Amino acid sequence: MMEYVPGIPLLRPYIDLDNQGFWEGVKQHKLVFQKCQDCGLFVHRPRPMCPRCLSTEKEWVSSEGRGKVYSWVNFVYANAAYPGIKVPYPVVVVEMVEGVRMISNLYDVNPEDVYIGMPVEVVFDDIADDLTLPKFKRSEA
Ligand SMILES: [Zn+2]
Repeated sequence: MMEYVPGIPLLRPYIDLDNQGFWEGVKQHKLVFQKCQDCGLFVHRPRPMCPRCLSTEKEWVSSEGRGKVYSWVNFVYANAAYPGIKVPYPVVVVEMVEGVRMISNLYDVNPEDVYIGMPVEVVFDDIADDLTLPKFKRSEA
């Protein structure tokens, strides 16, 4: 479980026209990804144009919320980590079943238990009134 240091403000996501739908979904505890309406490619992080076919036609599609740990790093030294988060904590790259990868944190997973290929599913951590983050917990398959 990640612990936050009281009194140190946490960064908020910078919301723009491209990622607004993603963060609106997260606020409602829904994980959505951009999907190109011309070639069907899932895209994350959100962007104005499909990286495969250059189309600007896209929609928000609900994710299954499942994936596997593609890579990770454990932050163990306080001076190398974000000052508002108590060490140790893992930062993971999750490869979603939709094929996109996203950077996140784990929820209720000890840093020493993380491994590449670990199945995970999304959870939503309401950290503050104006800050909800998608994180991942270990799943069965
Ligand atoms: Zn496309």
